[in-house]
Amino acid sequence: YPAVTMAVLPPSMARMYGSRAAVIDGDRVLSFDDLDIETARVAAALRASDIGDRDVVLLHLTNSIEFIVAYYGSLRAGATVTLVNPLQPVPGLRAQLVETGAVAAFTGVEQLDRLLDAALDVSLRAVVLADGEGRTAPDGVVTLTDFTAGHMSAPVTEVVSDDIAHLAFTGGTTGVSKGVQVLHRNVIGNVTQMIGWRAGHAVVESHGGIELTPRGEDRRGVVPGDAATVVVSPLFHAHALINMSFLLLCGATHVLAGRFDPSKMLALIERHRATYVTGSPAMWHALATHPEVGTRDLSSVQVVSSGAAPIDGVTLEHLRSAFPSGAVVEGYGLTEATCLVSSAPLTAAGEYRLGSVGLPTYDTEVEIRSVVDRAVVLGAGERGELWVRGPQVTAGYLGHPEITAVQFVDGWLDTGDIAFRDADGYLYICDRAKDMLIYKGYNVYPRELEEILVTHPDVASAAVVGRDAGSVGQEPVAFLVPEPGHVIDGEGVRAFVAEQVLPYKKVRDVVIVEELPTSAAGKVQKVALRERLATA
Ligand code: ATP
Repeated sequence: YPAVTMAVLPPSMARMYGSRAAVIDGDRVLSFDDLDIETARVAAALRASDIGDRDVVLLHLTNSIEFIVAYYGSLRAGATVTLVNPLQPVPGLRAQLVETGAVAAFTGVEQLDRLLDAALDVSLRAVVLADGEGRTAPDGVVTLTDFTAGHMSAPVTEVVSDDIAHLAFTGGTTGVSKGVQVLHRNVIGNVTQMIGWRAGHAVVESHGGIELTPRGEDRRGVVPGDAATVVVSPLFHAHALINMSFLLLCGATHVLAGRFDPSKMLALIERHRATYVTGSPAMWHALATHPEVGTRDLSSVQVVSSGAAPIDGVTLEHLRSAFPSGAVVEGYGLTEATCLVSSAPLTAAGEYRLGSVGLPTYDTEVEIRSVVDRAVVLGAGERGELWVRGPQVTAGYLGHPEITAVQFVDGWLDTGDIAFRDADGYLYICDRAKDMLIYKGYNVYPRELEEILVTHPDVASAAVVGRDAGSVGQEPVAFLVPEPGHVIDGEGVRAFVAEQVLPYKKVRDVVIVEELPTSAAGKVQKVALRERLATA
């Protein structure tokens, strides 16, 4: 893996793709050359404000050209970037500023007030209003145009590949979101793995930066110089953020689509001849069943990738029919492993297996270890905790050395997911260890029940959580969203599941809801559902 930092990305990409469009945001276009120039200016301006190597810069922005320029610009200045959901309320924002020791922030007009509130007791050296062109910034705030005025060339930094590139916060799906220390070599490593796995190219050092060379393998995927993607997932989350560097390095034009709207996304895929589309299961569910699918030309799409949460078999089938020209693949990963751990291979020899998240990417070792005794490595077909080792395994949690010591051991990461491998090494994720229920001493995996529930004709989506049931442990309760125009008969659905599972796995109760609470990254928030049950 090239021992470079993320600072080399913009100039390397400009060398490879020059005037090609890197980002399209509404009617604005930023070429790879522009990205190189603009990020150099941001880096120089940060340095001029005494913000540089290893200082933490907060990105408090929605998906936009400004987000992308501020991200690579900060990394080019040698700074560490921390990312946050721009809708984060003030207390969480304040906590992140304090916890990360941020010294500067890029924010937007919509979220400026919240940032200023959160930053009252923190001394930020710069607050940059990234989308405030033409506005007069309040005291202590500067617009991006004024901030970069007169600054041109990128500074030289001391940062090395072992330094922290991001403090990326986990989705908070299972509890409090934790800051993960992602090193430059983790991002370069994971992106290199993705380029090999999904584009058939190797990443090599060249001219003090990097470039791509074909690996000469027979594979589908994004071909450098011929790729475009429509982005709807939030860039502040690891999944979209790391995919961005992977796809930009493949020369992919990023078409930013704002808030997810299936109709708009379908139109943009058609208009820009998108080749590679990536997103979360919640998004794919809405898109693949949308009435306009059949009216759009989606034949440019070569790869449809789902990640961040488990996708059910029914949605996968809908996706296959919606994108007949594309390979539909599921990827599995987590913030603690930068982004990607495994996915269906795109080589001619690789095959897709229903319910599997594919094979580990290059140079990624996986082990299934006993939940009871982590020293015991289990064999094919046995369920246990999934451990991962590879260049993408990060340096652990910021400010939590005890949790880090338990989860990161000798280069191995305990993913907290229960999984098994088949005889050929294909991985199957059963559930999060934290979501597994124990009923009368038996393990119940909510995901298995959800898979069955969504095959019922009246059920559009389902989430199963445990309800305390005294001495018997936790009993599975299903939250169900009806298919439009259908009415769910709770008893009927319970009987439907009971016919297909062992008696201890039966769904004990059903709650009908209009929608499931999902996070910005498209994950069902089971904590909220459990709270609802506890207070019912
Ligand atoms: P927190 O750790 O704060 O609870 P989070 O786990 O949602 O939040 P992320 O790093 O965003 O934080 O999510 C990683 C998790 O998402 C994985 O550990 C796994 O449980 C789940 N996941 C990701 N991709 C898949 C997939 N393809 N199939 C099943 N689960 C997946």
